[in-house]
Amino acid sequence: MSNNKSAYDDNNIFARILRGEIPCKKIYEDTHSLAFEDIHPQAPVHTLVIPKGKYVSMKDFAENAPDAEIAALLRSVAKVAEIKGLKESGYRILANAGADAHQEVPHLHFHIFGGKALGPMLVDRI
Ligand code: AMP
Repeated sequence: MSNNKSAYDDNNIFARILRGEIPCKKIYEDTHSLAFEDIHPQAPVHTLVIPKGKYVSMKDFAENAPDAEIAALLRSVAKVAEIKGLKESGYRILANAGADAHQEVPHLHFHIFGGKALGPMLVDRI
């Protein structure tokens, strides 16, 4: 669990999904993680993977999560990509962090995109 609980908003949308207060289209769940479909998909496959612990961001997670939770989340990301049929075709993993990245939901999450050729990594160049 995070030591940074004061910065964590217990009412963020993913916290509410984790508490079962609002529905999600669940793809995978284990002790430490939950995966579900993004409500506004930006690719034929667009699935989110989140830790069950209360972590705002990658920084919070890296600094405060036990190693077992970090390992479990990464394994979940790879597992979900396989569940979604992307293992052979490939996929992109993205985690927005903070204002410059336009992180909307303040609970760490990995986006998994796939199901087509995804094009260049960023649209806007330097
Ligand atoms: P980010 O900008 O990285 O914080 O991405 C947040 C993502 O959460 C967006 O892609 C949203 O479409 C997605 N999202 C927001 N609310 C929900 C929800 N209730 N269920 C599934 N995905 C959601």
